[in-house]
Amino acid sequence: TQPELPRPTEPVEVAQLASDFNQLLAAQNGRLQRERQFISDASHELRTPIATIRGNLKLIERRGEQHPEVIPESLGFIDQESLRMQHLIENLLHLSRADRAAVTLEPLDIALMARGVVEHYQPLVSQPLTFNGPTTPTMALGNQDMLHQILTALLDNAHKYSPADQPITVTVATTDDHVTLTVADQGTGIAPENREHIFERFYRVDSARSNKIEGSGLGLAIVSQLVSLNHGTIAVTDNTPHGSRFAVTLAAAKEK
Ligand code: ADP
Repeated sequence: TQPELPRPTEPVEVAQLASDFNQLLAAQNGRLQRERQFISDASHELRTPIATIRGNLKLIERRGEQHPEVIPESLGFIDQESLRMQHLIENLLHLSRADRAAVTLEPLDIALMARGVVEHYQPLVSQPLTFNGPTTPTMALGNQDMLHQILTALLDNAHKYSPADQPITVTVATTDDHVTLTVADQGTGIAPENREHIFERFYRVDSARSNKIEGSGLGLAIVSQLVSLNHGTIAVTDNTPHGSRFAVTLAAAKEK
């Protein structure tokens, strides 16, 4: 009998190559699609304040002389909307900078950092703020400025989405090789079906929009980007009896 000839491998390899290529192409298309969506969302968000500013300028131009009483209100709108635009642009810059940032991570005392932030933040808000955590150094690997920004952004949200008298708690806890920083509030909470979206750029839960709570939907997108630059993870769950709880987990570190 004839020895069996080795089967040609080429077609298989070509098929594999084609499938890899298609996957790459699909990923690339997905990215392009998201970028396009992002630019369209950003333009839309910027267009709204500009329209308000121009509308009010026109109003002053047309009626200001004969009805000077319209001026203060219009100037108020112009001020408010230009501030909103400024925040939006700052946030967009944050996002694009963080995309390229080279980050140095170093051992940090997270408990010390969080305690400090809580002390500074308390006078700025009506909700009672509590810090829960060790008084001994609790070291994690991270970037001081970024972690500061993450905690402040989570506190800003806890404050915005909670009634004025409901407590907010910041907790630092360690497990064997992780440190977890948690911000828990007793506010509106986030429905399970919205949770997977809140970290997307420009996503806002309908109630945040309809209750006219100030915001652009970029805060948590920035937080999530900063958390991954710190090689950490972020998770959101329900708080008890109500409200939400955001937990950032970082790698524990030895003291410097
Ligand atoms: P925003 O500028 O709208 O606050 P974020 O990206 O920070 O944007 O948050 C996205 C959305 O997630 C918010 O619009 C809000 O609907 C929801 N959200 C964020 N944090 C909280 C919170 N602590 N409690 C309830 N809802 C929240």
